[in-house]
Amino acid sequence: MKIHEYQARDLLASFGIPVPPGQVIDTVPGVDEVFRQITAGQSSPMAVVKAQVHAGGRGKAGFVRLVRTADEAAEAAGFMLSNRMISPQTPPEGLEVQRLLVASAVEIADRAPTAKDGSAPGKEEFYLAITVDRRIRRNVLIASRYGGVDIEQVAHDHPDAIIKEPLDPVLGLQPFQARKVAFELGFRGRQVPQAVDVMLKLARLFIAKDCSLAEINPLVITPPTPEATDGRVVAIDAKFSFDDNGLFRQRELAAMADPEEFTHAERRAHEFNLSYIPLSGNIGCLVNGAGLAMATMDIIKLHGGEPANFLDVGGSASEQAVTEAFGIILSDEAVQGVLVNIFGGIMRCDVIAQGIINAARNYRNPDGTVGFRVPLVVRLEGTNVERGRRLLEEARRDIPTMQAATDLADAARKVCAAVCVEP
Ligand code: GDP
Ligand code: MN
Repeated sequence: MKIHEYQARDLLASFGIPVPPGQVIDTVPGVDEVFRQITAGQSSPMAVVKAQVHAGGRGKAGFVRLVRTADEAAEAAGFMLSNRMISPQTPPEGLEVQRLLVASAVEIADRAPTAKDGSAPGKEEFYLAITVDRRIRRNVLIASRYGGVDIEQVAHDHPDAIIKEPLDPVLGLQPFQARKVAFELGFRGRQVPQAVDVMLKLARLFIAKDCSLAEINPLVITPPTPEATDGRVVAIDAKFSFDDNGLFRQRELAAMADPEEFTHAERRAHEFNLSYIPLSGNIGCLVNGAGLAMATMDIIKLHGGEPANFLDVGGSASEQAVTEAFGIILSDEAVQGVLVNIFGGIMRCDVIAQGIINAARNYRNPDGTVGFRVPLVVRLEGTNVERGRRLLEEARRDIPTMQAATDLADAARKVCAAVCVEP
């Protein structure tokens, strides 16, 4: 599960990480008032208007705008609420923007080019994140001196500019590690304890909230003032992903879920306890067990096909859940064939067979006709397999596009042939 930036900022603030204040709006009228409230008392008022969508790359797409007057704020808000945002992280048709964050903007200190890295002058923008590194089986702190809108490019072109600090599973991020990273990032003087404080708090938040990703990009340094002679270290954008398996004990996070984050199919899958992940291929997969689902996708690819989804009906799916699973798979217009791969352990093959039959008898195509039109390849093995096969055989008239497979390789071969993949 993800949350929006305005919620992410609140979360950072609740752990004591410095974040400029802001307000959420969903219409243009009233923006001027918010602008005035947010910039009240500033000698040179400046705010930032930011689209609240579940995708990054907003800055480059024109959906993060610095504004200095109420009129500019209204203009930016009008643009963002009436245009879809398209970035490398959105679907090609872009995302509709329904909400905006109007936040107090900060000045970002200029960065002098250092002899050490020979980089061009820029702004003091850093990348800071904690995530899970599956390779080393640890949480890891990831940081870079070159944060901001080009971080993906930096990671690609200069992998050495990305610092990775593994975290001890028991002790978490320790202060000496945070200090080391702060120095490596180039923080100086009074900036160091501020950066260390942000890192330690982010690490605490990561664990407390069952995150799979906690990211600040950019973390910035503001220009020096008489009160803060080395500037202030402030987070101006954040992104979180939470482990869905932890949501039962993260009630206040679960309540923040935005249904817009999910497609209709994903919401339906969730309702019936199915693990469903849409992919870009054309072979729908209906499988029980995550491991078997992965193996099924692998073997489809081995035979030249492309899976259209990952769908695990679980160990004890009901007939109804199987029917629902077919509905979800077939609602994807790209699906040209379906592979059902079931190993009956706790799940009985006859239950699956009955689910398939019910689905075939009840599935309504968009034009109103009933029944499956795409080729269906079924491989059943395990508990009550004979009974399952017999049921399917008896219902063959209702499932004319069905072929039975003898084993997994045979199933993959048949479904790939059915969607016209050359062997
Ligand atoms: P993203 O492109 O979706 O990651 O959106 P961000 O919130 O990270 O904003 C993109 C860029 O806009 C940042 O890297 C900054 O350079 C700039 N920016 C955003 N907020 C502010 C701000 O308050 N002050 C200044 N000076 N620049 C900002
Ligand atoms: Mn950002």
